[in-house]
Amino acid sequence: MAKIISGTAMAAQLRADLSVSVERFVAEKGIVPKLAVVLVGNDPASEIYVRRKILECRKVGMESLQFRYGSDCGESELLELIARLNADPAVHGILVQLPLPPSIDSSKVLDAIDPRKDVDGFHPVNVGRLSTGTGGLIPCTPMGCLLLLQSEIPDFKGKKAVVIGKSNIVGKPVALLLLEQECTVTICHIYTRDLASICRQADVIVVAAGSPGLVRGDWVKPGAVVIDVGINRIVDEVGGTRIVGDAVSEELDHAGAYTPVPGGVGPMTIACLLLNTFKAASSLARGEASAG
Ligand code: NAD
Repeated sequence: MAKIISGTAMAAQLRADLSVSVERFVAEKGIVPKLAVVLVGNDPASEIYVRRKILECRKVGMESLQFRYGSDCGESELLELIARLNADPAVHGILVQLPLPPSIDSSKVLDAIDPRKDVDGFHPVNVGRLSTGTGGLIPCTPMGCLLLLQSEIPDFKGKKAVVIGKSNIVGKPVALLLLEQECTVTICHIYTRDLASICRQADVIVVAAGSPGLVRGDWVKPGAVVIDVGINRIVDEVGGTRIVGDAVSEELDHAGAYTPVPGGVGPMTIACLLLNTFKAASSLARGEASAG
């Protein structure tokens, strides 16, 4: 029987540990780590994510600020806000909730964030640091995937990992993190041929495709670990909706371990955002040129 790796439990432990570190930091430095969250438009999913992030900050003793703009907000208005937040010494982390409305050039906005405060890890400086293995702030979902994997696999040297999905926010950074752990990494995507046979060789599969039911049981070799990043809302047999991942979890009994959806990678993403905010506050307090 495969082990189910609980992201909910691991995230709770991370938050508990972080609360202790934050309390000590506040007592020693007199600084409360603060995250600024920027929300543009009224996408319901984004509203939920932002609310959750703000609540979780509070739970670990960190502060947050929320900046809300209508979908008619101009790019220059956002860039001005980012400049203000960059210059504000009381703000340690800046997060612009994606997606932004199509009228705004997201990369221009993300590139304007001070890399030391870029708690999403999307700034080119942090992307460069990740690809050269030289620190920086690591994107939250990929960091969550690595922590979940490390709880199962103490040493990755020589392991074969397959990452399905090559997005800048999940697939590519996950692959880089695994490469840094000395895994042999294969990155697959929508045009990859014979995905099933590539997966069958893997000790580790990280799937971030947004394609429900993509990874079948017979794609997974016995004992392999599967990290399912996918979040898909599907209509069930009785007309209700439910959230499923990209792997068919009912077919994974022979795997070594796998993450459930929900309750796997999702909770770890927010926990890692909190970790990054604390890291950013600590490095800024030490006057370092980069966080992480
Ligand atoms: P994306 O659409 O940017 O990228 C998807 C990638 O998967 C692409 O590279 C594409 O080529 C590949 N792909 C799609 N269908 C495929 C198929 N049938 N076979 C092989 N490759 C395929 O998506 P993303 O932003 O990277 O997100 C991926 C999934 O992860 C989504 O379901 C998203 O909701 C979820 N997600 C979860 C979290 C979390 O916290 N748990 C965070 C971010 C994204």
